[in-house]
Amino acid sequence: MTAKTIANTTRSISREKISRDVLEVVQSVNTFEGAGFPVRRPFPTNHFQNPDPFILLDEMGPVRYGAGEAKGAPDHPHRGFETVTYVLEGEMQHKDSHGHDGKLGSGDVQWMTAGAGVVHSEMPSEHMQKNGGRMHGFQLWVNLPKKSKMAKPRYQEFPGSRLPIAESVKKEVWARVIAGECMGKRAVIETHTPIMYLHFRLRPGAEFTQPVSNDFHVIAYVFEGSGTFGNNQQEVAGGQLAIFDSIGSEISFRNDGTKTMQLLLLGGKPLNEPVIQYGPFVMNTSEEIEQAFRDYQSGKMGAIRF
Ligand code: FE
Repeated sequence: MTAKTIANTTRSISREKISRDVLEVVQSVNTFEGAGFPVRRPFPTNHFQNPDPFILLDEMGPVRYGAGEAKGAPDHPHRGFETVTYVLEGEMQHKDSHGHDGKLGSGDVQWMTAGAGVVHSEMPSEHMQKNGGRMHGFQLWVNLPKKSKMAKPRYQEFPGSRLPIAESVKKEVWARVIAGECMGKRAVIETHTPIMYLHFRLRPGAEFTQPVSNDFHVIAYVFEGSGTFGNNQQEVAGGQLAIFDSIGSEISFRNDGTKTMQLLLLGGKPLNEPVIQYGPFVMNTSEEIEQAFRDYQSGKMGAIRF
């Protein structure tokens, strides 16, 4: 063996140790949520349950509504976790049982800690309901650790203009930093447990390597274009979710297509606690789920009164 091949071998072994492989690529399913708006759901599905600490990911649309057609999710409760709404196109209006309301537009994020319980509505804005328009966005459900499940509900709402944007020197890689850190830009949103939530846009030919904590579960959801992911070079197309191996401290991906690739890169430290989910409640035991139903039905989570 020559010095050159030894050097190459050493490099490839150390690269295998740090860059994670893709374990599995799963297809999202098309379904409906709320009052009947279309979503692409990468998880949970029959093929793939929840990657602790995440519970659910829905891509809302993209859909173009005609006048009077736009649908949302009227009044419903949540307890025991967080809902993260990220709007790419369109306008969403929300109200809740604590008297809070607001509107989310393109690039805006609402990180809602349901904690002990809220009743809220998530609807297209009145303007969209009346005139129609394009709607596209995401909702992610992040589980809360046992000690925070009954925390006081909290909102963190940021317009896109206040969320950090990271860009490579040549501007072929762009990222909105919703949680965690990317290219030296740190998120402004606070999380209960360590979470990474990055929206990437890569031009054709661009590639990127994101450092991740060794103890994170990591997934990538491609929603536009396609690319090659992981140390083992797996093809991931639009509407597919890549689940990464737990060994390694880097996630690499490349856009080898001819159009822009967009993806969400999500990571989090697993809670390793029992997860009992029933509809809008995510708790640790079935008794706690029954209690949540009782509290909701007896009005303890409140109601929207405005
Ligand atoms: Fe909700």
